[in-house]
Amino acid sequence: MDLTHGEQHERFRLEVRAFLAEHWTAARGGQGVPTPEHEARFRRLAVERAYIYRHVPRRYGGAEQPFDPVVEDVLRDEFNAAGAPMGISGGGPGMLVPTLLERGTEAQREEFIDATLHGDIRWCQGYSEPGSGSDLASLSSRAELDGDEWVITGHKIWTSSAHVADWMFGLFRTEPDEPRHGGITYLLVPMRQPGIEVRPLRQLTGDADFNEVFLDGARTPVRYQVGERGEGWQVSRTTLKYERNMLGDPRQLQNVLDDLVELARRTRIEGRPAIESAQIRQRLAELEGYVAAQRWSANRQLTAVARGAPESAQAVTLMSKLYGTELSKRLAELGYDLLAADEALLQPPVEGLGRRLPRDPRRPGAWTLQYLMSHAGAIAAGSSNIQRNIIGERVLGMPRDLRRRS
Ligand SMILES: Cc1cc2nc3c(=O)[nH]c(=O)nc-3n(C[C@H](O)[C@H](O)[C@H](O)COP(=O)(O)OP(=O)(O)OC[C@H]3O[C@@H](n4cnc5c(N)ncnc54)[C@H](O)[C@@H]3O)c2cc1C
Repeated sequence: MDLTHGEQHERFRLEVRAFLAEHWTAARGGQGVPTPEHEARFRRLAVERAYIYRHVPRRYGGAEQPFDPVVEDVLRDEFNAAGAPMGISGGGPGMLVPTLLERGTEAQREEFIDATLHGDIRWCQGYSEPGSGSDLASLSSRAELDGDEWVITGHKIWTSSAHVADWMFGLFRTEPDEPRHGGITYLLVPMRQPGIEVRPLRQLTGDADFNEVFLDGARTPVRYQVGERGEGWQVSRTTLKYERNMLGDPRQLQNVLDDLVELARRTRIEGRPAIESAQIRQRLAELEGYVAAQRWSANRQLTAVARGAPESAQAVTLMSKLYGTELSKRLAELGYDLLAADEALLQPPVEGLGRRLPRDPRRPGAWTLQYLMSHAGAIAAGSSNIQRNIIGERVLGMPRDLRRRS
């Protein structure tokens, strides 16, 4: 079977590779961590070349290209191989921007999209609440209208990056008498105001990427409501679709598998490289099979999208999130099992950078971090059990989960 993309796309691949070699790899001059200025320059150039933000109109800071899934696939391959970012990471560009493009007003798009894509506005996602995670429709944070402003009272939890965010996109109950999904509105809320308190939650890794957010009389103008009042649930489904698409990429799994093979080569068990142990080889071979299966699934998804069959593509996306995130845990588990005691110690985050060094599997503690963080993807954006329920109901046509019927 020939899995290359055809002459035109393979030529395009070479162009992208040359661009990345010049403007990402060489321009960094071997530095471990690119500076924010370098990233910003690189991002502008990549938009000009129409390599990133392709789906966003030019007037909002994007590249405005017709959808071509094969081009997107080539770009993801090459950016991954070069370790280059496909734009600003996180919920703003990945989730909110497509939501505003589908559901926002013209004024909201003009105010937020360009600034979000280029990192001038940072966002957090205010969905989960204590007791309302998987069962999100039971959320109870409320917003009440006062003139032309919403006044918000409530408690959000697990809010990633709330401590650095300028704005929150969140769900709030505006019609308390409506049934669960009915009375919710999707609001954009400025984070820097007196009615908002952010308290960090320290996680297993020692970092505090998560927060609790307490809202007590926080305000946001009605013009920052996305979609109709009471229809926030439907708007949130748009966001979630894009969030789940961000998880389970086979390229990232392949990166971890490659690192794992390298770790097995340099780790010694009873004086011999671990990779020579039959037991370790067996585990590696099994994992390699699963990573290959994930890659073929991604190819099926690509084929379905290219043939204009969004429903079968959606089914594969749901399965990719489930299997990709579960597989990520198994890969990291083997890495952790292979470590010597001194390699397992977690290193503190790098002072001043506000984040850890880029992926460096040789750094002490790197596999421990990978192991601890690998559990996150299987919970975020819908836990694995919830994902199984959705696949059962929407793809296999099984009866709905009793607890979620309403
Ligand atoms: C890395 C990470 C980042 C996150 N970032 C954010 C964020 O920025 N903003 C935000 O709003 N939230 C965020 N979350 C929260 C995330 O959305 C919730 O953790 C998730 O929806 C699960 O909810 P919960 O933690 O309340 O668990 P629960 O819903 O209490 O679930 C506990 C367990 O019960 C199982 N379970 C629950 N209901 C069912 C059912 N009906 N059938 C079968 N099993 C079930 C679940 O699978 C799980 O194993 C983040 C989570 C993680 C891990």
